[in-house]
Amino acid sequence: MKRLGVLTSGGDAQGMNAAVRAVVRMALDKGIETVAIYEGYQGMVDGGDQIRPIGWNDVGGILQQGGTIIGSARCNEFRERAGRLKAVHHLLEHELDSLVIIGGDGSLSGAQILYDEWPSLVNELAECGQISQEIADRHQHIQIAGIIGSIDNDMFGSDVTTGSDTALHRIVEAIDAISSTAASHQRIFVVEVMGRRCGYLALMGAMAGGGDWVFIPENPPDADNWEEKMCDLLHQGREAGRRDIIVVVAEGAQDRHGNRITSEYIKQVLENRLEEDTRITVLGHVQRGGAPSAFDRNLSTLLGAAAVDHLLAATENEKPFVMGIRSNKITRTPLDEALEKTHAVAKEMQAHNFAEAMHLRGSSFNESFQIIRTMVRVLPHPPAPDQQRMRIAVMNAGGPAPGMNTAVRTAVRLGTDKGHVMLGVQNGFPGLVDGDIREMDWMSVSGWASRGGAELGTNRTMPEGSDFYAIARSLEEHKIDGLLMIGGWTGYESVLKMMGNRHTFPANNIPIICVPASINNNLPGAELSVGADTALNNIVNAVDKIKQSAVASRRVFVVEVMGRNCGYLALMSAMASGAERVYINEEGITSSNLVGDVKELIVGFSKGKRLGLMIRNENANKVYTTAFIGALFEEEGGELFDVREAILGHLQQGGDPSPFDRILATRLTSYAINQLETQIAAADPTCACIGQIGGSLVFTNMEDVPRMFDMEKKRPKKQWWMDLRPIARILAKPSPH
Ligand code: ADP
Repeated sequence: MKRLGVLTSGGDAQGMNAAVRAVVRMALDKGIETVAIYEGYQGMVDGGDQIRPIGWNDVGGILQQGGTIIGSARCNEFRERAGRLKAVHHLLEHELDSLVIIGGDGSLSGAQILYDEWPSLVNELAECGQISQEIADRHQHIQIAGIIGSIDNDMFGSDVTTGSDTALHRIVEAIDAISSTAASHQRIFVVEVMGRRCGYLALMGAMAGGGDWVFIPENPPDADNWEEKMCDLLHQGREAGRRDIIVVVAEGAQDRHGNRITSEYIKQVLENRLEEDTRITVLGHVQRGGAPSAFDRNLSTLLGAAAVDHLLAATENEKPFVMGIRSNKITRTPLDEALEKTHAVAKEMQAHNFAEAMHLRGSSFNESFQIIRTMVRVLPHPPAPDQQRMRIAVMNAGGPAPGMNTAVRTAVRLGTDKGHVMLGVQNGFPGLVDGDIREMDWMSVSGWASRGGAELGTNRTMPEGSDFYAIARSLEEHKIDGLLMIGGWTGYESVLKMMGNRHTFPANNIPIICVPASINNNLPGAELSVGADTALNNIVNAVDKIKQSAVASRRVFVVEVMGRNCGYLALMSAMASGAERVYINEEGITSSNLVGDVKELIVGFSKGKRLGLMIRNENANKVYTTAFIGALFEEEGGELFDVREAILGHLQQGGDPSPFDRILATRLTSYAINQLETQIAAADPTCACIGQIGGSLVFTNMEDVPRMFDMEKKRPKKQWWMDLRPIARILAKPSPH
């Protein structure tokens, strides 16, 4: 491959820019020329100036921008062979036969057709003399890598698609905002979100926003009298004291017979039957707008880099692949297979085979639907007469992590619905020591899905000495059968200590499950902990603003972020904000590193660079502090640039949890409660921690934790994200020319 073309097509999606930046810079770094095809397939069909080289600096400063800087369009001509013939002609004018195509399933269907027809189109062009035979011979095949840019997350080949996380941000922000006005006026709001054929945004939006009812295309209401059932439930909700009622509806929602369920119809039903003021909010294009989330920037960056790697390794007649992600790992799926599976869901829906459509969506989609069904209930199911009623305590420990409340709400609601008594421990382990424990009922966690902080209180104090005796007494007094600890390393370590004391205090011999919640993302047995995504977004938003503040000056920022000895937040925020250097504890900092960095800055600024951004993890090095590095750069930069330090501090821990954290908290806790219930029933006092690893939710025995965890550095011995360092480094380099 000598030359690579990149285009964005179809509906725009946040993160497309990050993908374009990664494609262009990764390719240039490998010595490959890069060409942008502007306005999607339209640019290919029109040719001329619409296909032109794109350089390293052309994709600078675009990570934080929504939309796509190379334009996107819908193009009917490309749907016809004649249009595609023109397109191929224009591509070959630039000798382009390697493409990265970023778009939705329409655009990628077009890509597949382009691939399939390519040899015949090339030969036709040669036969009618539009291109030379020599060119035709040189370009008998096209290589294509696809990246799914779609806010709907409606395509197979990736767990999540570029843009869907940001769209969820917009949806959840809207639902949070609407909830407060709905609560003030005791109104019902119907919120319509995008998704003609896929309920992902509606489902996850309702789960993360604490919606009270949700309509998705794949799973219409069971009963023909759904109107009555919905109104009964919402009416009960009012009686039980619920002030805000939010119904989330996907634009493609339908009933079992394929009739559309519109937001207008839902409003009429609610107004007529409940006689309540009902308002509709159609979110529309707001969902495509705004700055991309940290997750979308990093996802798209990794997919863009993977697309270039794939094309570099591709054989001459390699068929097209889509790049995707499966639990933090980049995957490749043949494009035809991804399209076939995507279209299969649509076909099943058209044939009203909704069970099959849901089956094809996969287990996590189905689980989410079931969880929502339970969470929206007004009251729990009454316990069966012969059911064992367990007493399960829930607590937080460690520093506050956004999403802790979401997790507690899930635990209380799912636990109560299973017939158990749920007890809230106040203020972490000191609360357990003091017996500060109270029963939590269904409505006690109303509104907690979206609330930042930790309503139960959380604390970094660990129990010691006689505290274990006091804990044993509390557990006995409250007849606690099992404990759910949602928190950070303090919580994990406290549980390990409790386990170590069990022979002395047999009452502590109960099953305990730890749910990872820490912004630092430094917990064992989990690739991601609840709170880290929110913190990352907090950092990235702050850095965006810091960067904007420097428009008129030549300046280097040294930004210090949290994470203790774990560089996750530093590395991921550096990748999402395009920082050129990241200092993390795992790598440390040496004086020669700093000298090298100063030299690079001086060279860069002498060549016209205007902004430098370095991100330093708070514990990167004891001596080379943020102030030290700032002072060093300032002194060495002389007249060339000035330096500002920004220590972001506690804003990183604050704010309402991001959609990702809310969804993660809900899923982890739902599994944890099931596991705890099983262990209590089996009288199995094993303690475990839960986490998502390699695409599945797994439990790790707490006894194995000391082996996997660096107890001194307080971070896992192996951290998956360390593999991403080279990509972050390459992409943020100054222009090689
Ligand atoms: P998205 O890519 O977001 O799903 P569209 O479905 O509108 O958006 O597709 C974008 C463009 O991709 C279309 O305007 C058209 O140029 C091209 N395209 C879509 N489907 C096909 C197809 N079956 N054959 C050829 N080109 C197609």
